[in-house]
Amino acid sequence: MYLAIRKLNVLGSVLYIAAHPDDENTRLITYLSKDKLYRTGYLSLTRGDGGQNLIGDEQGIELGLIRTQELLSARRIDGGEQFFTRAYDFGYSKTPEETFKKWDREKILSDVVWVIRKFQPDIIINRFPETGEGGHGHHTASGILANEAFAAAADPSRFAEQLQYVSVWQAKRVLWNTFNFGGNNTTSNDQFKVDVGGYNPLLGKSYGEIAAESRSQHKSQGFGVPASRGESFEFFRATKGDQPKTDLMEAIDLTWKRVPGGESIAKIADSITASFDLLHPENSVEGLVRLYKAIGNLPDGYWKTQKQREVYTLIAQCSGLFLDVTTTEQFAVQTDSLRLNFSFNNRLGTDAVLQKITVDKFDSAFIQVLGKNRNLNFSKTVFVPADKPITQPYWLAKKMEEGYFNVTDQLSIGQPDVDAAYNAFITIRIFGERFTFMRPIRYKFTDPVRGELYQPLTVLPPALIEPDDKIKISKGNNTFSGVLNITGKKKGFQTFLNDVGRQHTDKVKVDYSPDKLNFDEKNKVIPVAYTIEAGRDNDYYFAIDANNGEGG
Ligand SMILES: [Zn+2]
Repeated sequence: MYLAIRKLNVLGSVLYIAAHPDDENTRLITYLSKDKLYRTGYLSLTRGDGGQNLIGDEQGIELGLIRTQELLSARRIDGGEQFFTRAYDFGYSKTPEETFKKWDREKILSDVVWVIRKFQPDIIINRFPETGEGGHGHHTASGILANEAFAAAADPSRFAEQLQYVSVWQAKRVLWNTFNFGGNNTTSNDQFKVDVGGYNPLLGKSYGEIAAESRSQHKSQGFGVPASRGESFEFFRATKGDQPKTDLMEAIDLTWKRVPGGESIAKIADSITASFDLLHPENSVEGLVRLYKAIGNLPDGYWKTQKQREVYTLIAQCSGLFLDVTTTEQFAVQTDSLRLNFSFNNRLGTDAVLQKITVDKFDSAFIQVLGKNRNLNFSKTVFVPADKPITQPYWLAKKMEEGYFNVTDQLSIGQPDVDAAYNAFITIRIFGERFTFMRPIRYKFTDPVRGELYQPLTVLPPALIEPDDKIKISKGNNTFSGVLNITGKKKGFQTFLNDVGRQHTDKVKVDYSPDKLNFDEKNKVIPVAYTIEAGRDNDYYFAIDANNGEGG
């Protein structure tokens, strides 16, 4: 909390860019986010879909899903934010030219520009240069795209379609974070260097220790690393803009002066910092509410939004506010009901009155004082409509191309993960001001070994189909038979299968047995035998696709 309060007066941001999960310099990210208190991001062009998996059988897009979560887990430790482009990690590539043939250069450049325009980094740091010392073609490509995006993000004629959502952005400089690994030393003493090996007494850890915990999240790559302590230099060479001499952020105003009318904000934040009581953070809540209102009076802009978000989080943290909305079901099933459990606690007794809860179409008003360290528990039931979108990674919703994911919604691009299936909006009046806290609704359970656990809530169709074989091939004898194991996810769900058969052409006849399914119990599995007869003139190759997102 104290670090976050000090951060309120730091208006600076850094974006690190490379190609894969694990390319990023976690020690530098930790130092920038936790020592310098900059908003720090990592843009990994790919999700690391290629390569080896040391912890399971998943390959390709499934490995990319695992590595996405590993990166998010690393960022929760080092304090960075995570972004991706649409680029697919198709495996080793010798040259950037070969990489760009598969990636669709303009699309991936557009994504880098988009993330820069949204994140508005003061400086951009590349792991890899344009000149090939990074080895892998993806690495060099990431250097080329980052350097090109530096100018393109500031040019209103480039990717103009983005400008309905974001503004152009000119970063101050691009730096190559030179390295000494793999027998390749690209650092030298004439480069600008920073010691990132310090110790943070508030966190009780060195940045090298935090970085090791972060790095060790790359479990599928077996990248567990020991913690480091002591002086540790990072070297930088400017590839766009001027070479820094005394500070990475040289010639950049990192104070509230960069926002018109912002100087009065700095004074309020200073007084909150000076009077912060480590044992009684709740004493700072009233000041934070005043700060929130003062920031709200500023003209709209990037730092206003950013700092309001930070103050919001701080108000909840300094109040010890616990706002939990969970289910005891792992899945929200279309056409079924879903019971939500609300659990609130105002643990430090700030001045808080619950006023309203909104979840989807459900909306409820309250006038309930949240007493100090009192649990307020209650449940509500919502209905999951048939058209509630099934949970799936947005980048896999459309069929992908060889070298990139097909995402057409501009606003999704860059986003690391799927949105929560449901969010609860909880409005609480704190010192006279209304704050609406958003909380994802999660599945909560207790594992006898691992203890209390949360998982995202997943939306499913009422029945899931799993074939005995995913692909059946036949030549000459155009009859196929097999079994579909159908699991009902909703008690009382009924369905007919011969509707599916009738959708085929006259040349193909499909029979099911049984064709009427009645799931009188949840999770009941009904095996259905099927036969497909195709016309004698044709060779048919049938793929039984149980992952078509339509629920069978
Ligand atoms: Zn890499």
